[in-house]
Formats: sequence, structure tokens, C-alpha cells
Amino acid sequence: MLYDPLGREFHYLRLSVTDVCNFKCSYCLPDGYQCETPRNFLTVPEIRRLVSAFGATGTSKVRITGGEPGLRKDLPEIIKTCANTSGIEQVALTTNGFNLEKNIQSWVEAGLTSLNVSIDSLKPEVFRRITGFDRLQSIFAGLAKAAELGLSQIKVNAVLMQTFNADELSSFLQWIKDKPYTLRFIELMETGDNKAFYQQNHVSGYAIKQHLLNNGWLPVLKAKNAGPAEEFYHPNYQGKIGLIMPYSPDFCKTCNRLRVSALGKLHLCLFGEQGYDLRQLLTSDQQQAELQQYIQACLSDKKDSHFLHQGNTGITQHLAMIGG
Ligand code: SAM
Ligand code: SF4
Repeated sequence: MLYDPLGREFHYLRLSVTDVCNFKCSYCLPDGYQCETPRNFLTVPEIRRLVSAFGATGTSKVRITGGEPGLRKDLPEIIKTCANTSGIEQVALTTNGFNLEKNIQSWVEAGLTSLNVSIDSLKPEVFRRITGFDRLQSIFAGLAKAAELGLSQIKVNAVLMQTFNADELSSFLQWIKDKPYTLRFIELMETGDNKAFYQQNHVSGYAIKQHLLNNGWLPVLKAKNAGPAEEFYHPNYQGKIGLIMPYSPDFCKTCNRLRVSALGKLHLCLFGEQGYDLRQLLTSDQQQAELQQYIQACLSDKKDSHFLHQGNTGITQHLAMIGG
């Protein structure tokens, strides 16, 4: 098992497979994806070697993210590669859902076990204002299809923002009354690019938590190896709520995840200062032992907190860079 100097154990890998995105979310890429030159993202054989090394050192869950992972034509192959790796029990995907309806069947057939779709508004017009795309109905249809295909772990990510959708909290709760989804409110995080937007739009996760507790929602007891999300259930609701509150003081204490960027850099934190290049250790199957030792050695640099509450955003200009 990979571990750091504070004794935290890491069994969850968040793997970005591209930093390109087609959406223009106001808090992430308001002007759209900017890089003009082709990017040399990790190939399927490199991903196989990378995930094998993590699987051999205790990682049981891989989340494929980006940018928008649905833009990779070889996504089914990537999912299959992760699912077939020894030690990996769960393969999750975080997507903006633009091609969910069309492709979910091939993703499930490839071995996907859980799906997170980002939906920041249930109102088509507000959804378009946030993302730049009029896609909400197709995303709803894709979610329904995922459930029909038997995918049991379906989560919806939403970021509440003062000037866009903060008034939709009650509608979101009502929406999951008869749907078996876990709705996860991610507190808006400050990044290098969105400082003014953050100041104007941040909604405290603590306020959402108080609203839940005042309205009959009850905390789900955390499993020993659970990550930083706080979960809530309600006896009258089929769906559950998850709160991701990165500004809460204890958030980093339960950190159980490592990140690898689409260019093969290991990131010890979403808001760290540097990435550790793994790519030169992904060229042959003979480098597995060296790769595992290098990843463990890098972990000695992992800090106890992201220091985000002090306005530290590290090198992270936006979350599409390393995979949110
Ligand atoms: N494109 C995919 C998507 O949107 O689901 C995957 C990548 S995106 C970076 C992953 C998640 O990060 C999304 O749920 C998005 O809402 C969230 N996110 C991006 N920027 C954020 C920010 N500044 N604060 C909070 N959440 C953010
Ligand atoms: Fe793209 Fe996801 Fe960022 Fe939105 S949050 S711009 S969908 S990477």
C-alpha cells in the first residue's frame, strides 16, 4: 500500500486522460480550451503500465477524468484496460455527459462500474449559461440509460454558485426524491484563473450542510477508508447527498487519492506546486518495480494540507489541467 509521512494510505487513483474540453464552464474554462498545439496524451499501453503499478501497490479504484474524457475515441479501450488490471475493483468516470447517451453502453460493456456526471443546473437556460451548451435533455436521457444498463453507482456533481444556481438547492433535493443517484455538491474552489469569479460566487458548503440537517437529512457513518466527502441520507428520499467541502479544516486528513495528469505527471495534491514525471518509467513492462518505488518515494513530499483556505492555489490555473 502506498502511504505518506502522515500515515495516510492511497488506494484511489484519479487519472486524467486529456486536458481538452468542449464545454466552457464559467468557473473552469470560461473562454474554452486554449491550447493550439496537439497534445501528446498518455497512450493505452502507457496507461496499462501506470495502472498496473498502482494496482500492485494497493490501488483498488481508478477514476478516469480530464478535461473531458468522453472526447477520447479510445475511451472504451482505456476503461477496459483499467478494469482488467490486477487489483483494480472499481473503474469510475467523471464526465460532462455531452456524449453520454450515445456512448454509455460501450463504456459499461468495457467494464465501467461507476459514473459521475456534472450537472450544475436543472434549468436548461441556466445550464447553457454555465457551460455554454444546450445539452441538458440529452444528459438526462444518458443518465436514465445508465440506470437501465444496470449501473448501480451513479453520481451527479453540482457546483452551487451565488449568481447562477444557488437558488436551486431545494429543486436539486426534490429531483433525487425518487432517483437512486448520489448528488454531490462540490464547493466552488479558487484556482489561479478564477479568483474574481470565486469571490463573487462562492457558496459555503457549511451552509448547505446546515440546510440538510435542518430538513431531516442524516449523516451516513463513514467507512474507515472513506475519502473526504460527507454523505447524508433521508428516509423519504431514494437519492443521497454528498458534500465535498475542501475549505473545511479536516478535509485533507482523510485524503486517500493520488492524481496523474494526461501527460503522465504524478500530482500529490490538486493544489500542489509540481508534478513528478512518470513517463520515462512507462516505456516498457520491465520498469514496473522501479515505477512503484519512484511513486512511493515521491509520497515523502506530500504536504498535510492544500492550504487553499490561505488562498494558495499552487500551479493549478483551472481543474481541467490535472483532472478535478
Ligand atoms: N469534464 C468533466 C466534468 O466536468 O465532469 C471532468 C473534469 S471536471 C474538472 C471534474 C469536476 O470538477 C466537475 O464536476 C466540475 O464541476 C468540478 N470543478 C471544476 N472546476 C471546479 C472548481 N473551480 N471548483 C469546484 N469544482 C470544480
Ligand atoms: Fe470542461 Fe469539466 Fe471544466 Fe466544465 S468542469 S469546462 S466540463 S473540464
